Formats: sequence, C-alpha cells, structure tokens
Amino acid sequence: MSTSARVPVLMYHQVADAGPANRSPYCVSPERFRSHMTRLADHGYRAVPLESLLAWLEGGPPLAQGDFVLTFDDGFCSVRDHALPVLERLGWPCAVFVVTDLLGGVDSWNVPPDAATAAQAALLTADELLEMRSRGCEIHSHTRTHRSLPQLDDEDLNAELTGSREALVKLLGAGEYCLAYPFGRVDERVRCAAVAAGYRAALSVQPGFNRQDVDRYQIRRIDVVGHDSDTALLRKIQLGTNDGSLRHWATYRFRQAIARLQPRPSLG
Ligand SMILES: [Zn+2]
Repeated sequence: MSTSARVPVLMYHQVADAGPANRSPYCVSPERFRSHMTRLADHGYRAVPLESLLAWLEGGPPLAQGDFVLTFDDGFCSVRDHALPVLERLGWPCAVFVVTDLLGGVDSWNVPPDAATAAQAALLTADELLEMRSRGCEIHSHTRTHRSLPQLDDEDLNAELTGSREALVKLLGAGEYCLAYPFGRVDERVRCAAVAAGYRAALSVQPGFNRQDVDRYQIRRIDVVGHDSDTALLRKIQLGTNDGSLRHWATYRFRQAIARLQPRPSLG
C-alpha cells in the first residue's frame, strides 16, 4: 500500500437546492454533491473516518494514498437527506459538527440578506443525530450557539466549549469529541480553551494538507462551495488549496516543473 504523508480534509456545509433558504455560497446542490463524490472515487480518492486521521496524527498507522476526510459544519438536515444516501452507497464515513443548543432549530447565526422573505435552514434534531451516527457519521461539536469565539470573555468561551462537549456526552455517551471553530475563528486563547475543555482535536478553515506534525487543534480544511465544478474540486484536493481555478493549477505545475530543472546543490 502506498501511504500518504499529507491528508486533505474537505469542508462542506449544506447539501440542498438553491432557494430562499439556501443562498449561501456554501450550499452545494444534491446533484453536484453526488457528482463531486463520484469524481473523487473515480480518481482513486476514498473518504476515511476523522478518527483514522487523528490516530495517525497521534502516532498511529499511516493512511493510504488518496485517503481524505469529509466534514460537514453546522448539522443541516439537508446533509442527512441528500449527502448521506450518496455516502452510504460509496461506503464512505463523514464527520458532522453540530451546534448543540440549536438541535432541531435553524441556523439563526446566518442572517439572510432579505430577512423578510428568506427562510433559514433546518438543523438536525437529537434523534436524527443518533440515527446518523448509526449510519456511519461521527458527530462532533461546533459549540453551543455558533458565536465567534475570540470575541467572548473567558466565562462565555468556556461555556460554549465545555457546555457543547457535555451536551454531546449526554446525548451520545462518553467519548472523545472534536471541535470545529465557528466561522473558523480561532486565536491562541481560544485554542488553549479548546484543549482545556477536553476536546481531542479541533478543525480550522486554514486551507492546506495535514502532515503528521500539524497542530492537532488547528487541523486544516479545504473549503468546498456551491459553484465548485468537479474539476475545480479535484484541483483543490490535489493541491490542498481553496483556489480551484485552472490558473492556480497551471502556476503550481509550472513552478514544480521549474523546481525539477534546478540543479541540486552539490554535497561535495
Ligand atoms: Zn458553522
């Protein structure tokens, strides 16, 4: 088995048709999601549990070439409705990060541009999370209420982090839970608070590959948005970047070719 020294983690949000409730650039249509996953599988990619990545980061066995981790932030119902059936057919796991005070509610932190007519998107209930876990999803924390953590005082910060982890323990049982920082916002104080609150790891929105020495509380993720074509997604996962443009890909390959032509410094 050829092993991988740099593991990509993809970040999705909603998997739903565009509409009044889904104007977010992070909303990927069900057809596009199916097409993304099919294209990745055709190119030798395979989703593995977040648990496998964490075990490797902690010194465990390496992952295989093409292995990647699939994550969904916020815990939208549309992930169960449209993404899970696709993943089940492929036998691929995923990790879902939920806002524990808002289970069964809506994404109230997202203020739609036209609040008078736009609906907000529904979030999974506690029972639905239990069902999803039985169907191969890992469930982790996206805090209690999705507030921007660096802005909070110590007391509120601790309540968001500890409270959410405790809610998951109550709902899903004792276990090791991970955190995704809301809006990707994190600073050193927030990072330390995540460690102190007992999370095993935390995921950022910093793009890039994860090598074995990556900070376990700043795991990198590649952002997938609604207008990413299959080809753009492939470029993103191949280069570990949020820029899936052909131009970026061509520049990267050109630089690689130039680097190979440079004479190596002589050791003698
Ligand atoms: Zn979020």
